[in-house]
Amino acid sequence: MSTHLEKLLTVQDRDRKIRRLSKEIVDIPARKQMIESRLEEHRHVLKQINEEIKKKNLRVKEIEAEVVSAQEKTGKLRQQQFEVKSNDDYRAMEKQIGIIKREIAGFEEQELAIMEEIEDLKKTSSDHEQELAKEQTIVDEELEALNHRISSLESQIEDLKKERAELVKDVDEEWLSRYERTLNHTGDYAIVRVDKGVCGGCHMKLPPQVVHDARKFDTMTLCNYCGRLLYFKP
Ligand SMILES: [Zn+2]
Repeated sequence: MSTHLEKLLTVQDRDRKIRRLSKEIVDIPARKQMIESRLEEHRHVLKQINEEIKKKNLRVKEIEAEVVSAQEKTGKLRQQQFEVKSNDDYRAMEKQIGIIKREIAGFEEQELAIMEEIEDLKKTSSDHEQELAKEQTIVDEELEALNHRISSLESQIEDLKKERAELVKDVDEEWLSRYERTLNHTGDYAIVRVDKGVCGGCHMKLPPQVVHDARKFDTMTLCNYCGRLLYFKP
């Protein structure tokens, strides 16, 4: 036959386990978030590259529009050239056309350079997309593992609770209610060991009489300071 205290120590052990496993479940969403945050950097870089590509594409369109308008200008000048009377005017127009043609050549050079930059950026973007996909696979696996962990923890907790329900049937009601009230109050332990005359819960020095009483397993001895149930085991 075990004493009230011994029975309660077993209950406390199960309660501690239930608490520890429950805490692990509570912490899982934060762990999941940390795992998912690893994708953020890749996504951020990808977004920046894609924005850069968009900007450069816009610039290409602008340049193309400028080329078209310059070509229209040359066309008009060519038309006007037929109508001028003097050679000087004709040459002046020829000179203007030459300037515009060089401008067009400059635009086309710019356009080519930007298009090459866009090609490079697209390559970098696709590299990052591959990295992201790889990381996503790892992240998915880790998240899946955590989901399995939750299921396993839940079933362990369920078993422990069943076991606890059986155990408390055998515990004296007065002791059990004292134990439960104390556990709710302290949040960690309701029953603690006296070690070198000190309470194992609040670490206060206990009066000799209390230390002496704590040796009796079937007497309810409480700490004068924190109210935890005390026991002494040499
Ligand atoms: Zn205490």
